[in-house]
Amino acid sequence: MGDSLDSRQREQYSRQLMIDSIGESDQQQLLSSRVLVVGAGGLGSAAIQYLAAAGVGTIAIVDDGHVTRSNLQRQIVHTLDDIGEPKVDSAARFVEARNSDVTVERHATRMTVDVAESLFEEADVVVDAVDGFPTRFILNDIARLAGIPFVHGAVYAFEGQLTVFRPGGPCYRCLLPAVPDADVAPSGEPMGIFPTVPGTIGCLQATEALKHLLEVGEPLDDRLLRYDATDETVLRTPLERDPDCPVCGPDGIDSIDDLEYDDRYRIER
Ligand SMILES: [Zn+2]
Repeated sequence: MGDSLDSRQREQYSRQLMIDSIGESDQQQLLSSRVLVVGAGGLGSAAIQYLAAAGVGTIAIVDDGHVTRSNLQRQIVHTLDDIGEPKVDSAARFVEARNSDVTVERHATRMTVDVAESLFEEADVVVDAVDGFPTRFILNDIARLAGIPFVHGAVYAFEGQLTVFRPGGPCYRCLLPAVPDADVAPSGEPMGIFPTVPGTIGCLQATEALKHLLEVGEPLDDRLLRYDATDETVLRTPLERDPDCPVCGPDGIDSIDDLEYDDRYRIER
């Protein structure tokens, strides 16, 4: 735990410090924490802005993409001036303009098992803001091996979903064991997204990450929240562990050496 808050910090975070369950030591905990945000797109933009505003001390942002004009409709940390720039750079500029307490780590790299393993070191929580299945499987598998909570979010058109996978509970592979067939769920292709839906889900991902770091509220473990913007429906359904899960089941993976993938990102055993 670091030193006590200074007067500037007491003012900056005063409105969250007024909440009974959040004290100065909790804020210090936030300031000394490290959150890994994988993806600086629509979900990542929303999550990053609130993690930064709340005073998460280190935000490690991973994205190998560059800002395009078609991103701007929903990826709100990027601006017209950022078109063509690496997304990690424009996201970092957004954070630096908002909160001098926050250090941004920029990782303009593709996610692989080795990259994930190195980035997960000292991460307190991981925010899944990716737009493709392979990266999400890698994150899930490494998060489970590392024992780190994994805040999953995904969006499509008017719909979004959210949950927190934590050691001891189900993991993403209990929900979806392998990359689905392309005709069921296209991966890696541009898809239609209503602009506010990643904002809504990304904001809830930041909420769950902050709740975990501050140890407040009831985490959204073991339940999948589904949001439909067309009629503002929010449904929460229980999630259960798959006893045959190749990651969290009794015969699941024990080490990074077990992570050999086939072409649909199933674990080869
Ligand atoms: Zn599982």
